[in-house]
This record gives sequence, C-alpha cells and structure tokens, in this order.
Amino acid sequence: MSLNKGKPCRRVAELSLESIVGLMPWTYDYDLAVIGGGSGGLAAAKEAAQLGLKVVLFDYVKPTAKGTTWGLGGTCVNVGCIPKKIMHYAGLLGKSIKDARYLGWNLPEYTQFDWNLLVEKVQNYIKMLNFSYKVSLRSAKVCYINALAYITTNNEIEYFLNEKSYKIHSRAIIIAVGSRPFVPRDVPGAFELTITSDDIFSLEKSPGKTLIVGGSYIALECASFLNDLNFDVTVSVRSVVLRGFDRQCSNKVMNNLEELGVKFKFKNLPSKIEKCEREDKLLVTYTNGERDLFDTVLYAVGRVAETKNLGLENVGIIVGLDGKIPVNERDETSATNVYAVGDVAQGRLELTPTAIQAGEYLARRLAAVSSKIVNYNNVPTTVFASYEYSSVGYSQEKAKEYFGKENIEVYLREFSSLELSAAHRLKNERLWADEFDKEASPQCLSKLICLKSEDEKVVGFHFIGPNAGEICQGFALAIKLGAKKSDFDELIGIHPTDAESFCTLSVTLASGQDFRVSAGCG
Ligand code: FAD
Ligand code: NDP
Repeated sequence: MSLNKGKPCRRVAELSLESIVGLMPWTYDYDLAVIGGGSGGLAAAKEAAQLGLKVVLFDYVKPTAKGTTWGLGGTCVNVGCIPKKIMHYAGLLGKSIKDARYLGWNLPEYTQFDWNLLVEKVQNYIKMLNFSYKVSLRSAKVCYINALAYITTNNEIEYFLNEKSYKIHSRAIIIAVGSRPFVPRDVPGAFELTITSDDIFSLEKSPGKTLIVGGSYIALECASFLNDLNFDVTVSVRSVVLRGFDRQCSNKVMNNLEELGVKFKFKNLPSKIEKCEREDKLLVTYTNGERDLFDTVLYAVGRVAETKNLGLENVGIIVGLDGKIPVNERDETSATNVYAVGDVAQGRLELTPTAIQAGEYLARRLAAVSSKIVNYNNVPTTVFASYEYSSVGYSQEKAKEYFGKENIEVYLREFSSLELSAAHRLKNERLWADEFDKEASPQCLSKLICLKSEDEKVVGFHFIGPNAGEICQGFALAIKLGAKKSDFDELIGIHPTDAESFCTLSVTLASGQDFRVSAGCG
C-alpha cells in the first residue's frame, strides 16, 4: 500500500471521475480520514496507520471569543487535562510552603506568586507536546492537514487551504471533533465579557478576583487551583456541586474547598455582567439582586459538541440538543462508513482515556485485526481539587437505585492525612479570620459501597485526599476484577499511607457510629 508522505491532498480538479464519485474502493485517496486531532482522533489515526492503513487527519482550532487558539493535540493537551494538572500542582506547591516552614525549611515569610511566569511555563510545555504530536504523526506516516474538514458524502471530505477548495476520498471517516465550552447568551454581558477554560490557561493578565459559574469538574478544578494560587475565588452554583457523583463525597469536596478559602453561592447566578470602566472590573448582578465586582468571570457550565458546520446533514446524521452524534457500541453512526469517538459521541464519558481507547479499538476493528469494543463500566475518574476526589463504580445514591437500599452496605472513614496533620495545616486565614488558629477539619474520606447479595462485592470506591487520582488508579483494577470487602480486609496496607485506610475499614454507615478518626496508627 503506497503511503501519502504528508503532502496536502489533491485538488478537486485533479481527482479522477471515479474518485469524485467514490464508488470504486480502489480509487479512494485514503483508507481512513480522521476529523479532529485530539485524544480520540490522534489515537485512532496513529493506530490505524501503524496497522497499515493509509490515513489522513484534519485538525483545526476555531479561536475563542477572546481570540485564544492553540496547536495540535485537542482539548486535553492545550486547554484541558495537561495545563489544568500543572496549575493544580503549582497551587499545591503554594499550599505546601507553609507546611515546609513548619517542618524546618527556613523560607522567607513573604513569598510571591507570578501568574505570567506560570502561564509561560505551561504554554512552553504545551508547545513541546504540540510538536511531539506532529512528529509522531509524521513517523506513523499519517497525512496531517491543518484545516477545517467538512463532510460532503459518506466517503468525501472538503477542506480549504489558502482559500482554495480541496477534496479527499476515504473508505471510512472517523469524527472526533470534541466539544467546546458553552456560554449562555441569555445573560447580558456573559458572552462578550467573560472567559472559559479555553482562555484561562493562557490568560495574559493575572485573573485577580474571580467568579466561576458552574458546579462540576471544570468549575471546581479551576476554583481550586486559582484559590491555591492565592486568588480570591467565588463559585456560583445553579443546583448542587458535582451532580452525578456520590453526594456525601461531593459535599466533602466542597467543604474542603470552603475551608481552603473558596466561597460558594448557591442558586444565585449572574443575571447581568457589565464592564465597569473606571475600575477596570466586571460588575456582576446576581439573580437575587446582589452585586459584586470581579476582575475575571469564568463560565464552566458545560460543553457543546463541535458538530455545527461539519456537513452531517449531507450524510443524514441527526445530532442531539448538545450537538452530540448518536453511536452504537461499535462507534458506528447512522451513516455508512462514518464513525464517531470521544466527546462528540453521544452517551460516552467525556474523558481523555475513554476517547483514546475508543479511537484505538475502532482503528483495530477497521483494520480487521480485532473485534473488541470498549467496556465503559468501572471507568475511574478524578476531580483534581486541592484534595482530589477519585472514584470508580457506583455512588451511594446510584447503588441504592440499582441494587435496592437493603442490599447496600457502606463502609467509611474520615481522617486527616498524616503529613498535613503533622504540618498543622490551618484553616484559610482569608475566610476563617475568627478561627484561623484552628486546624483544618480532616481532609480525607475513604468509602466503599458493597453489595450484600454478592458477598459484599465492592461496587463503589471513593477517596478524597492528596493524590486520590494515583491511589484510585490501582484500586480501580481490583474493582474491575470484582474484589470483595473481604479482599480489601485481607490486603495488607502500606504504612504510613492514606490508601491503607481501605484495608481496615470497619465502620458502616448503617451502624450510626462515628466514622471520623483522629490521626495516628491503627
Ligand atoms: P478533543 O480533544 O476536543 O479534540 C477535538 C479536535 O478536533 C480539536 O482540536 C478541535 O479543534 C478539532 N476540530 C473540531 N472540529 C473540526 C473540524 N471540522 N475539522 C478539523 N478539526 C476539527 N479528561 C480527563 O480524562 N482528565 C482530566 O483531567 C481532564 N481535564 C479536563 C479539563 C478541562 C478544563 C477540560 C475542558 C476537559 C478535561 N478533560 C479531562 C476532558 C478531555 O479533555 C476530553 O474528554 C478529551 O480531550 C476529548 O477528546 P476528543 O478527541 O473527543 O476531542
Ligand atoms: P458538566 O457538563 O459536567 O457540568 C456543567 C455544570 O454547569 C453543572 O454544574 C451544571 O449545573 C452547570 N450549569 C449548566 N448550565 C448552567 C447555566 N446555564 N447556568 C449555571 N450553571 C449551569 O461540565 P464541565 O464543563 O464541568 O465538564 C465537562 C466534562 O469535561 C465533564 O463531564 C468531564 O467528563 C470532563 N472533564 C473531566 C475532568 C477530569 O477528568 N478531571 C476535568 C474537567 C472536565 P447542574 O448540575 O444544575 O446541571
């Protein structure tokens, strides 16, 4: 099979009649055309090319309302997981300065944080990743085209380069165009004056006093790192935080954030946002009539799939209200030869590892080397708040709903992390002026949800505390393999760690006993 060595594809006029009509399989320019160079698209393209298919990948980023744009790699690399995790780490370092002082480091009383320097380092890191993705496509012999792709038929894609129209023909098309943040148009000033997660990681001006609207992953993660970086942060939540997650754990995440200094406003959303020129600030009027000035307002109220102007109507694909494409378990859309993976696919978890696995497995099926499909059960996930919240399996509420209240046993323990309690972490001085000399409440919560009818098989694993993501990744395998509470009990802990709490959970929620323990061994 001859491979296209990264050259732009032929212009329409240069194509043969057969390839324009796209009837003869041997006239296709490519075996596979992938639209979207994010987690799912890159994984599918590279895997397919490595398996011998001739692949073209389109990736193009439409600038945000603020003009922010970025390179190859999609949301995760440029405006998602990667910059978020670096800023999370930078925030944690700031919080550790006081611990370090307490534990013997002779650091100056006054330490200063430089937003522009952080942004510069984050952006440099991203550029390095953008470059490495380009290199990896080149070495996999994938033709990369930095242009917006438009589907014209089940086997044809049109794109523009330097104002000229080109078309390619492909045996199969994978749509992996992801999603972009949604900003409500019915709140005056919201669209014009606010930013989203697409802007925050490259923001040239320090965000200052920030209002975040939203109550899920993105809102809480941004609130958390900005607060840890010493900005004054308020979160305006429409209903509850982290809808869909375990309620007790979600509230614990929120309480931890409150103790660290984040302020929450419930059921009190911005109704108007105005520019206050004199003070160079944004004046926010809330639904209850309250007003407040902010330097930055960030909307994190969900995302909409990037399917407008993709030409889906040309192949008869009908999207949902959120713009998502209905797919079956084999990632097939309603259009022959057209597939969808990642955030754009309806009903899929909006996470990088699920997009990657979906892309890789689909490529293997298209190359006819495997028939495996992704198993979306027991996918672990982490909310990267200061004290991370990681979980796999059912929330207490969902477990009750699916298995019945009487069939559920919940084991739990609330405790302080050894390191944080030894460093005497105090409540945040900004928010807790009256109680600043008091130590923070226990940050950690370990919780197992077990199924009585199946010998206490663990169907839900939840942990809040430092490095929860790292801890949960390992335990997730046990849950996937069907571990029971007795397996956790038999497992010998690694001492002294926060994770060892899972080997000695003895208090059940039903017992009504106190599940909060003081620090110390045993
Ligand atoms: P994307 O990565 O969004 O890639 C789609 C690409 O297609 C984009 O480059 C887009 O510009 C391009 N495109 C769109 N239309 C066209 C077109 N017509 N032609 C050509 N190109 C086009 N997930 C985690 O697992 N862990 C995390 O910690 C995490 N943190 C996150 C933090 C934030 C702030 C956000 C926003 C998301 C986070 N996610 C996280 C989610 C994760 O980033 C997404 O689930 C993942 O990136 C989805 O991959 P994708 O391939 O579906 O789409
Ligand atoms: P979500 O769709 O998860 O949540 C949207 C939030 O915005 C909810 O709290 C919702 O409230 C609220 N909301 C919706 N509309 C409005 C409105 N008009 N006004 C005020 N509030 C509103 O969105 P996110 O943007 O936080 O995250 C998108 C996805 O990205 C996640 O589902 C996740 O899969 C992925 N992600 C993963 C991360 C990780 O793995 N660590 C990190 C960040 C993102 P309500 O509950 O009332 O509907």
